[in-house]
Parts: sequence; structure tokens; C-alpha cells
Amino acid sequence: MSLQVIENATCTFCGCVCDDIDLHYDDVRIHKADHACVLGTAWFLNHTAEKKYPMALVDGREATLDEAIETAATLLHEADMPLVYGMSNTTCEAQKECAALADQLGGLLDSHTSL
Ligand code: SF4
Repeated sequence: MSLQVIENATCTFCGCVCDDIDLHYDDVRIHKADHACVLGTAWFLNHTAEKKYPMALVDGREATLDEAIETAATLLHEADMPLVYGMSNTTCEAQKECAALADQLGGLLDSHTSL
């Protein structure tokens, strides 16, 4: 089996954001993550290209992405105090979008560290 390598990939698992990870992969999954710690290795090796879930769910049933976005926008617009929460495994760019969304909604922003 021949593996391809992505050099200097970034791990966003714990917040240290190591950016020197070499990922060895095939068409389905990552087989090796050089330079990653045990947490990062477990995180990378459990990602696959297999489609295990539908593109979106609305009320537990399969939905199109457009339908899911419309439903999410409606719920957020109607919420009294929307909370944008999480972001522990996301990039700085995604966190910036979360902060903008919380601002636009007049809601709250929090991360999992408040637990
Ligand atoms: S490789 Fe390990 S230390 Fe580095 S970001 Fe990933 S989990 Fe954190």
C-alpha cells in the first residue's frame, strides 16, 4: 500500500496548535501522524473519508444542507438568548466567525473551558 504525505499539517485538538505534523494517508484514512503527541495521533487516526452520516439532519431526519441552514437561521433568529458555544477543535478563522455570529445575534459566546 502506497501512502501519500501532507507535511506540516496543523493539529487543532488541544489548543497548542502544533503545525509540524506529517500525515501519511490513503483514500480512506490517515495511517500515521509523525510529530503528533498521543492525543493528536488518536485524533488524526480516527478521521476517515468515509461518509458515515448524511450531509445534514433536521429534527433527526436527513435534510439538504440548504434546508439545515435555513432551519438553523430561523432558530437562531427566534432565540431570546442564543449561545454560540464550543470551538475547542476549530481554527482561529472559524472562531472569528463564531464571535461575529454571536455579535450579530446579540447572543453569548462561550468555550468548553467554562466547564
Ligand atoms: S499534537 Fe498534541 S500537543 Fe500538538 S496540538 Fe495536537 S493534541 Fe495538542
